[in-house]
Amino acid sequence: MSAGGTRVISLAEARAARAAAELAERPAAGPATRPATWPATPAAAGRVVHPPPDPALEGLAVFERGWLSSNNVLIHDPAGAVLVDSGHCLHGDQTVALVRQALERSGQTLSAVLNTHLHSDHCGGNAALARAFGEVPVFVPASTWEAVQAWDDARLSYAPTGQRMERFRAAGTLQAGERLRLGGRDWEVIAAPGHDPDSVVLFDHSHGVLISADALWENGFGVVFPELDGIEAFDDVGRVLDRLEALPATWVIPGHGAPFQDLPGALARARRRLAGLQSDPARHRLYAAKVLLKHHLLEEQRQSVARLHLWAGQTPLLRRIWVDLDCPRASVHAWCDELLDELVRRGAARREGDLAINV
Ligand SMILES: [Zn+2]
Repeated sequence: MSAGGTRVISLAEARAARAAAELAERPAAGPATRPATWPATPAAAGRVVHPPPDPALEGLAVFERGWLSSNNVLIHDPAGAVLVDSGHCLHGDQTVALVRQALERSGQTLSAVLNTHLHSDHCGGNAALARAFGEVPVFVPASTWEAVQAWDDARLSYAPTGQRMERFRAAGTLQAGERLRLGGRDWEVIAAPGHDPDSVVLFDHSHGVLISADALWENGFGVVFPELDGIEAFDDVGRVLDRLEALPATWVIPGHGAPFQDLPGALARARRRLAGLQSDPARHRLYAAKVLLKHHLLEEQRQSVARLHLWAGQTPLLRRIWVDLDCPRASVHAWCDELLDELVRRGAARREGDLAINV
């Protein structure tokens, strides 16, 4: 359904596009962390915090989440609200509660979910939303369509990273260059490869709002995953930063952290970080290894070091980083201990006897 190059996402269209897909076994439920909220006022879990009164943000609700889940943006629309990104599967109930609460306030229904990319912290709540709200169509970046339909968990990164995920069905795709009419705004879908080769970001030309996913945070950007697989992608990151610089953005809603307005400042910090990583790829690999370990601890909350070793040994991407770093320490297990010690030193984990505990 389109008019003048602008597509209106609708359930009917989604149903027509849907291919058959079977739901996979669901992972065991785990502990959920409390979401942070925006503005920075601490709020109880489940409370919806609306943006500050600014006409540019009217009709948008941002759920700023803890680190295991990405932020979610609810675009209110009388024809049916649309949620951008859905957090991690372990926080599915929390995502449902946040959306339900926001919809109750507006009296609207949920009509679609869009995923900027398919990392586990951005689309893990899709299945929970489908259970809670019925056949809500999910739209994914076009280049991921086949992998989602086939549920190729190697291509989708869950197997290589050793991350939990709950299978979902996609109903349609997001094509770079197209415009979506959502919430009375025209959102351009912009390709944003680098952190993830398939990622897109969304820019609302009518109000200058950029949903930047993990392509740009207030302080940096996400791990450049293709580089860990030996695929050059730092240049992609740079090109995307150039593309974002050309946008007349007044607000940036990142995938993690609070929304912000200083786009030039964020771009300058991101470029400095990129230059540092390009000049020292080993530092990027080491950083990525710590991110993978921290993500695992966020999922498990507490785990025996023996089981942590098991996970490290069975996680292909972690093993690859170890090899690419010339196999530091005597084994992956010993290296994993060193990474854990580093997280402990930085206050991101602690050890209690034989247990590794997320902090
Ligand atoms: Zn990501």
